[in-house]
Amino acid sequence: MAKHKKQFAIIGLGRFGSSVAKFLSEMGYEVLAIDDNAERVQDLVNVVTHAVSADSTDEEAMRALGIRNFDVVVVAIGENIQASILTTLILKDLGVGKIIVKAQNELHGKVLNKIGADKVVFPERDMGLRVAHHLISPNIMEHIELSSDYSIVEMTAPSAMRGKNLRQLDIRAKYQCNVLAVKRDGEMNISFPADEPLCRDDVLVIVGRNEQLTRLEQVYAEP
Ligand code: ATP
Repeated sequence: MAKHKKQFAIIGLGRFGSSVAKFLSEMGYEVLAIDDNAERVQDLVNVVTHAVSADSTDEEAMRALGIRNFDVVVVAIGENIQASILTTLILKDLGVGKIIVKAQNELHGKVLNKIGADKVVFPERDMGLRVAHHLISPNIMEHIELSSDYSIVEMTAPSAMRGKNLRQLDIRAKYQCNVLAVKRDGEMNISFPADEPLCRDDVLVIVGRNEQLTRLEQVYAEP
């Protein structure tokens, strides 16, 4: 039997929702794009599988679209918090398997979690944090949150690390962080020799508690 390819519905076609919809379509997924603003719908008609104009706070309209048959529904309504919450409740009631909702602020996020959103995302907040992080620590190329306490960071070897090896740097004992891998010349090395000196463009992939990673970033921060 052919493997079921996930089907997505995106509600709210602002900058965030439309970019999620476009990317999924480009990746070959079936996407239903919904907005109550006909112009926004029109912009995506030739991009996604189906684009329809509907009010997502209208339960009957959502039922008629067969919304519960989609594997994942993304609610990307930002400004109208009431519409975002009502939509999430309706989707939950209709039995949608996975609901991902964009939150406008922390309180909105809390409500969404309480009413059963499977994942709440804060794109503006997260992108702001990313940019700020990068301004303070230009060596940090990537920051992946594993949980609220732990992250993985990709850090270009700061000048103070170059010429030294992992044994000398002793990141595990000093910062309670683990170097998972070292990327060199585009190659990921997950068993990088402890006695191999680090070079200029090496990228360290490090896992640890957020406070310890921040301490490590601060110690090695360079202007
Ligand atoms: P972005 O930052 O992603 O551009 P935003 O956070 O400013 O978006 P809005 O523009 O408020 O969010 O909402 C995104 C889209 O959601 C808009 O195109 C709007 O028409 C649509 N929308 C709002 N309420 C509803 C609703 N009840 N049903 C369907 N679509 C809706």
